Amino acid sequence: MLPETLSIKVTPTAHSRIGEVDFENLPFGRIFSDHMLVMDYRDGEWQQPEIMAFGNLSLHPATSAIHYGQSIFEGMKANKAEDGEILIFRPDMNAHRFKESCERMCMPTIPDDVFIELVRKIVEVDKNWVPSKEGDSLYIRPYMFATDDFIGIKPSETYKFVIFTCPVGAYYSEPVNVKIEEFYTRASAGGVGRAKTAGNYGAALFPAKQGQLKGFHQLVWTDSKEHKYIEESGTMNIVFVINGVLVTPSEETDTILRGVTKRSVIEVAQSWGIPVEERKVSVEEIVNAIKDGSLTDAFGAGTAATIAPIVKIGFRDEVLNLPPLEGREISIKIKNYLDDLKGGKVEDTHGWCLHV
Ligand SMILES: *Cc1c(COP(=O)(O)O)cnc(C)c1O
Repeated sequence: MLPETLSIKVTPTAHSRIGEVDFENLPFGRIFSDHMLVMDYRDGEWQQPEIMAFGNLSLHPATSAIHYGQSIFEGMKANKAEDGEILIFRPDMNAHRFKESCERMCMPTIPDDVFIELVRKIVEVDKNWVPSKEGDSLYIRPYMFATDDFIGIKPSETYKFVIFTCPVGAYYSEPVNVKIEEFYTRASAGGVGRAKTAGNYGAALFPAKQGQLKGFHQLVWTDSKEHKYIEESGTMNIVFVINGVLVTPSEETDTILRGVTKRSVIEVAQSWGIPVEERKVSVEEIVNAIKDGSLTDAFGAGTAATIAPIVKIGFRDEVLNLPPLEGREISIKIKNYLDDLKGGKVEDTHGWCLHV
C-alpha cells in the first residue's frame, strides 16, 4: 500500500516537443520525453514529488555528489502492446535493487511501492512517448544524487531523486565483439560492484576505450584478484550455452550487478526445463569450450541491450569466433519470448508486467 500522503503534483508542459521526434529512426538515449519527476529529500524525509516540464536542474557548485560520488541510478523499459496498453517490465526488481544501491551508498531509501508508483506515474503522463514500433521502447531512468553544498566527506543530508524517460531504438545495431580484460578491474570483493552507482561506469571508461581501439564493443571483466574468472560485461550480464546448459557467473561474490534481464532469462529457461548453472566460470573453461565446439552460444543480457548475441571474443592475442547466429536456438527462443511478454503478446504467467 502507498502511504496516504503520497500525492504527486503534476504541472503539464505548455510546449510538447513530441511533434519534432522522428519515431521511425530513434537513436538510443538522445531524445527526452516532455516531463520529468523530481522529489527532494531534506529534514530527514522525502518531500512531495513533482512532475514538471523536462528541463535543466540548477545545482550549487559544491553539490556533494559531483565531488564525492553519492550517485545511483536505475534503468527499465516500458512497451506498448498492440491494443495500446502500456506495460513496464518488472519495476519491482528495479525498486528492490535501487534500495540496495541506496543502502550501500549511505543514501536514504524509497519504499518499493512508492518507487513503483512514481515510475508508473511519469510513464502515464508521457504515455504518448512510448514508441509503438517493434523493437523500440520507452527507456526509464530513475536516479538519485547527494545535493548538500558542503566540502567535506560525510553522507549528504539532502538528495534529489529524478526520473526522466527516453523513447529509444536498439542499443546495439550489430552483434557484439567483446574482449576479456585481464589487467583492469571493474569491481572487487567488498567494493561497490553490486550497486548501480555512477563511479563504476566512470572508472570503466578508460579500459573500455583501450578495447574499442582494438575493435571490441565491450570488455568482459574478470575477477580482481586473479583475473581467472569471468564476471560480466560493462552494462550487461553475460550468459553462455555449453553442451545445452545455460552457464553464467554466480552473483555470490557481490562484484556483479544483479541484472533483471539475466534473472528473467534464468527463470524462463528453468520454467522450460533448460538446465541452468550459476557458478564460477573460468576464462580457461570458456576458451576451451569455444575451441572444442561445446560452446554454442554467448550473449549479453541487460535492459538497454536486451539479449545481445556475442560473435567474437578477444583473449590475449587471439580473436575467437563464436558459432553463427542461426544456430542459437536457446537464446533466440528466450529473446522472442521475453519480447512477446514485454509487448503483451503472450500471457504474462509470471505476473512480471505492470500495466500503466
Ligand atoms: C544495469 C547493468 C546490467 C544489466 O542489468 P538489467 O537489470 O538487466 O538492466 C548489468 N551489468 C551492469 C554493470 C549494469 O550496470
